[in-house]
Amino acid sequence: MGRSTLALLRNDSPGKQREAWFGILGRSSADLVLVLDRMAVVEYTSAAAERLLGTPGTLLVGHRLHDQLHPDDEALFVDAMYEWNSSRCADHVAEFRLRHEDGDWVAVEATAVNLLDDGIVRGLVVTARDITSRRDTEASLGESHARLMRAARGANDGLWDWDMQAGDIHYSDRWRELVGADPGQLQGQVEEWFDRIHPEDRQHFHALLSAHIDGHTDGLESDHRILHSDGTYRWVLCRGQAVRNSRGKVIRVAGSMIDISDRKLFDGLTGLPNRTTFRDTLQGVIDRNSEDPEHLFAVLMLDLDRFKVVNDSLGHGTGDRMLISVARRLETCVRARDTVSRLGGDEFAILLDDLDAREDAEKIAEQAQKLLAQPIYVGSNEVYTTASVGIALSSKGYGRAGDMLRDADTAMHRAKRGGRDRAETFSTAMHVETVNHFRMEVDLRRALRRKEFRVRYQPLIALGPGRLAGFEALVRWQHPERGFVSPMDFIPLAEEVGLIAPIDRWVLGEASRQSREWQLHHGHQSNLTICVNVSSKQFSRDDTVDEVARVLEETGLEPGCLKLEITESAIMDSPERASEILDDLRTMGVRLALDDFGTGYSSLSHLHRFPFDTIKIDRSFVSRMGIDGQNPEIVRTIVALARSLEMDVVAEGVETALQLEILRDLGCKYGQGWYFAKPLTNEDAERLIIADTRW
Ligand code: C2E
Ligand code: MG
Ligand code: MG
Repeated sequence: MGRSTLALLRNDSPGKQREAWFGILGRSSADLVLVLDRMAVVEYTSAAAERLLGTPGTLLVGHRLHDQLHPDDEALFVDAMYEWNSSRCADHVAEFRLRHEDGDWVAVEATAVNLLDDGIVRGLVVTARDITSRRDTEASLGESHARLMRAARGANDGLWDWDMQAGDIHYSDRWRELVGADPGQLQGQVEEWFDRIHPEDRQHFHALLSAHIDGHTDGLESDHRILHSDGTYRWVLCRGQAVRNSRGKVIRVAGSMIDISDRKLFDGLTGLPNRTTFRDTLQGVIDRNSEDPEHLFAVLMLDLDRFKVVNDSLGHGTGDRMLISVARRLETCVRARDTVSRLGGDEFAILLDDLDAREDAEKIAEQAQKLLAQPIYVGSNEVYTTASVGIALSSKGYGRAGDMLRDADTAMHRAKRGGRDRAETFSTAMHVETVNHFRMEVDLRRALRRKEFRVRYQPLIALGPGRLAGFEALVRWQHPERGFVSPMDFIPLAEEVGLIAPIDRWVLGEASRQSREWQLHHGHQSNLTICVNVSSKQFSRDDTVDEVARVLEETGLEPGCLKLEITESAIMDSPERASEILDDLRTMGVRLALDDFGTGYSSLSHLHRFPFDTIKIDRSFVSRMGIDGQNPEIVRTIVALARSLEMDVVAEGVETALQLEILRDLGCKYGQGWYFAKPLTNEDAERLIIADTRW
């Protein structure tokens, strides 16, 4: 019976009419309508009584409803009667079970309107709805809840049970123990708990709690810090589950809490202190020795080289076991007073306390590297790794652990860039370099927007006829203050900071557009090839193929006129993925060159497995030809190999007439280098096209 129908009973219509309405409502309602007096004696029942309870309603009239109640629900019912009678809360909802004629129990949810003062009704109008089927669902929910509670009790968890209607909360003894509260210290208010949550964690906890109460999550699960009565914070894992009434409203939330401080202090995989603990320990050492500049200590930051390759190729299980081995090895090369920690991923740190000399730190770093370079056996796999190490020394006078870690990290990255498997000690010069690096990064981010990039075109020569065959597009950065910045300097930076993709995309678009324009204007050169470099970092991105297709479509360039230059490292990082992309590009008709051949992994098998149609022999091999009588064996071999695989060869970095002559003798088909032309502006390149020069 809805609110509006109840309102009908209270309006001022004439008595007879009201009685008629009352009757209609009572008969038509699926819900059982009862009128009770103050003592719960039944004065009226609606027709639903028979359907619901199997008893003609008239048999109930004159008897107290208690007689029909499940014995366990009597207390609940008495509470409800009290609420309804005192009319404090007409909204009070009670759930209880009534006896069915056949011996079953029918669960109902009842609300009441207090019309005791109404001259005609003079009673409580109670509407009871059958919720037996909902109850059954809830019972199973309650059962799983009970199981959870039992399990929690067994696991020695602290338990809490929050009655959202009464607004009080019950804490188990173990729960009180976890926060160090004496018996009697907690009054059963939820604020006593929430106020103990660390201010930094509180908001997040409340967000999780609300999300669960609002039905967005299946359960509450939060790890946060909680104040212990001894004044320290402990890490706890708090779980909870809401119990809802039939209308979905949360009536209780109950759950458990366990102390996970240990887990928060140590790395679960290796058992080493984690980053937080390491930082705290380091801060302790810094604080203790701030007055004693003689006391020397150091932080070593170690990062495994190419750990990702192991993880990706041999699986995470192998990766994990490798990390454990690394942890054990590192422990053997330090002294008892040192701390080895895993900061996360493949990053480890060592705190070397009380050193005699700074060289000692370097010696230990060296030992650690030697130990790590030994093969690690994981199952049937023999895995190799090396580590790059950064060292920060206390002599710089650190006040904060974070600063010292940052400097060790800077030095470590420097070691990585310097070719891996190296150790570097942090120096102020490095700081300057880092700052410069950072400024460059900021500038680089603006460069595209400010249109500071240019494309230069270096002619590609067909050596047989000695004629222009195409161009390689090479990017240039015209920095507003620094002037020209070499791609050798900014491409690695752009790769590192994730800016290479937009740069390469821009070069590809610009060079394709320009080539197409030349083709249209200079018909005799309509098959000029444009070669565009693609960074190894950009290459395995998902959108490479779409991007190329889009550019071809937009510029109208024939796919066969575009050649992408890719280095071996682009393929090695993830060969399967690379292979798919290369195949897709080939299918589109785009041509592919393996750039800088001979400098990378030079695995000849790549030539077979991947659909390249051109090899570019690295400049270093070409430049050695003809000097000091060195013979061109390597170049000869590569040319022969390419011919047998039916691939074209381009010799890079041709600088002298002699080199050109040798290359022609070897049967190398294409050449590129300063002997012919340096990278040209588009105007100069166009002049060259028109001139139709012969070399
Ligand atoms: P690369 O693709 O091997 O390009 C050839 C490099 O050799 C170019 O240097 C070119 O100027 C230089 N070079 C050409 N002929 C000679 C010669 O006879 N002697 C000497 N000593 N050098 C010669 P650049 O332009 O500085 O480019 C360096 C590298 O930067 C390129 O090597 C390529 O890996 C990369 N790069 C250039 N432009 C782009 C680009 O748009 N995207 C990407 N991802 N990388 C690019
Ligand atoms: Mg190239
Ligand atoms: Mg090259």
